[in-house]
Amino acid sequence: MKKLSFAILFFVFAFTALAQKHYKLNEIPDPKKNGQDEFVSDPDGYISNIDSLNRLIAKLEKQTKVEMAVVVVSDFDQDHEDAEFATALFNKWGIGKKGSNNGLLLFVAIDRRKYRFISGYGVEGLLPDITLKHIGENSLVPAFKEGQYSDGILNAVQKIYDVLTDGSSRDEINSLIAQQKQKENGWKFNLLYGGLVVLLFFGAFKILNKQAPTLSSEDKKKKTSYDSIFIKGCVSMVFIAFALVFLFVFGMVSGLFANFGWKDVPLVLYIVLAIVFFFSYTYQLGNLRKLHNDDKNFMDEAKSFQRKNWWMLLFSPLIVIMWLKHLSLRSNTTNRFAPINDSKNRPMVRVDRDINVEGSPYLTKGQREEELRQVYDYDIWESEDKKEHVIKQWPAEKYSHFSECPVCHFKTFSEPQEITTQPATYSSQGQAKEIKRCENCKHEEFIKWITLAMLVRESSSSSSSSSSSSSSSSSGSWGGGSSGGGGAGGSW
Ligand SMILES: [Zn+2]
Repeated sequence: MKKLSFAILFFVFAFTALAQKHYKLNEIPDPKKNGQDEFVSDPDGYISNIDSLNRLIAKLEKQTKVEMAVVVVSDFDQDHEDAEFATALFNKWGIGKKGSNNGLLLFVAIDRRKYRFISGYGVEGLLPDITLKHIGENSLVPAFKEGQYSDGILNAVQKIYDVLTDGSSRDEINSLIAQQKQKENGWKFNLLYGGLVVLLFFGAFKILNKQAPTLSSEDKKKKTSYDSIFIKGCVSMVFIAFALVFLFVFGMVSGLFANFGWKDVPLVLYIVLAIVFFFSYTYQLGNLRKLHNDDKNFMDEAKSFQRKNWWMLLFSPLIVIMWLKHLSLRSNTTNRFAPINDSKNRPMVRVDRDINVEGSPYLTKGQREEELRQVYDYDIWESEDKKEHVIKQWPAEKYSHFSECPVCHFKTFSEPQEITTQPATYSSQGQAKEIKRCENCKHEEFIKWITLAMLVRESSSSSSSSSSSSSSSSSGSWGGGSSGGGGAGGSW
């Protein structure tokens, strides 16, 4: 007798231990893993009508957009209360559509005899806690007392369906859906505006590029100050993009992007394209600079280019920088291009340096070298009868980069520069000399020897690759909604 009662006790304990599985939050199987139309998680097999429940909830979702989940377990993490645990589960799965937060969870713990509805903010208006409490007490509790879990739950879901699709509730839902549609349409409009921005820029780029002069391969090789603006611009754009990606990845500026949405797409597109447009505009001015050896011809053509394309300012306000640059360039050269008179007081004509590039026979080789190094600009003025010539010298862009050569006396003597005489290798040091050199007569002034450090091989680092596991392809997902813990619950 004693033996038997022990055996019974043992079996009872074993049975309850088996039945009372205390599910942790991440141990509860997500029904969406089995498909988009699966809403019921019943790991312990209490529910016999899962198919009917799934159909009903699917119908509910189709008609009201409300996303509902049903979870039935024997027991859960003993450290938590049911409301707390169910809310955590709701938010972990993200029940309900993101944004509208129209999710609903029915959580039932059989062994604790507790049920709990958790609702997202979006359904709290339609299904107030009092309504849920009412449904729980009228549909769940009586059935659960009889052990009729399947019937009780189906009954409750049917009630919820009735409330949500009933006339007055439906009106409320319709207005909610209309609001969401409006949001969706706003999204489409913004995309449309974004497309329009791209289209307009496409046209502007086309007009801009059409004006590009045809350059000879020799002209293309020339370096101008516009190139450096262009290159610096591209480099800083890449740098900014990298910095943003970096900051974004590490969540440092995520606050900045928290309110970022489709509404900002047209503006962002405009900003990016406006910056690119500015560099493109600068690049075209650079092409004009390369085309003309003659400064005045260049400035005249740049002026007409800017006049003709004034409207491009609307596409990129940055273009005003180039307007100001050219305005100051013109005001600085007013004196330079003002005609001068010959000995008989007749105005002289300036030799077009696009036609006579070398300025021969008036410019010496040294003067030409100064021009090529952008130390001086030379203007040659010719009298009408071509008998008189005046050469005028103007400091140019790199005036301060050169000094006067002690031998040939042209201002073509470079700043100290390093010339490698023996390159460093992995086994020996190298050598270089620091010199100043005349670009005209090639006179060199030795300053000092420089030892170049031996090259060091970088130790190669190996990177390990990690393999990622892929989830099954047939799984679905919840919409990503959240809940503040609203809802109702009770026990039986
Ligand atoms: Zn020299």
